[in-house]
Amino acid sequence: MDKGAVGSLAGEAVAARPSWDEYFMEITEVVSKRSTCLRRQVGAIIVKERQILTTGYNGAPRGMEHCLTIGCLRQELGIPSGQRHEICRGLHAEQNAIVQAAYHGVCIKGSTIYCTHQPCFICAKMIINAGLVRVIYANGYPDELAVGAFAEAGVELLSFVRS
Ligand SMILES: [Zn+2]
Ligand SMILES: [Zn+2]
Repeated sequence: MDKGAVGSLAGEAVAARPSWDEYFMEITEVVSKRSTCLRRQVGAIIVKERQILTTGYNGAPRGMEHCLTIGCLRQELGIPSGQRHEICRGLHAEQNAIVQAAYHGVCIKGSTIYCTHQPCFICAKMIINAGLVRVIYANGYPDELAVGAFAEAGVELLSFVRS
């Protein structure tokens, strides 16, 4: 192998290196795989200064049975996507990431939250008051109230575009 070939191999390795957003979003997608929701596997991670502070996926609270095991009332009643979240025993990924910060006493003020899906209105309100400043999501979710809340509160909402 001559010097030129070595150089081009090194170049490929650099080209394959993910950006920070790609890196965090890929981790968020791995986190979502732990979800126990029957409908949608969602993941969220809270990042500050390029360090992961907490993670969350959607599922039932600690010590409670998961929808995956005993079924979900929303599923049984045929409730459409985006409605009556309150009757599901599961917490959303974003909520779990925020709660994990409270549980361990981690300050998440000024952080960014990476989400596999655009947050819902309830999560948006929690994100705003947790002091998060930026939301980066990979997949859309039809909740205009959440979009309006972020805009009104001055939280940056960005759609992640894979390069
Ligand atoms: Zn459920
Ligand atoms: Zn939510």
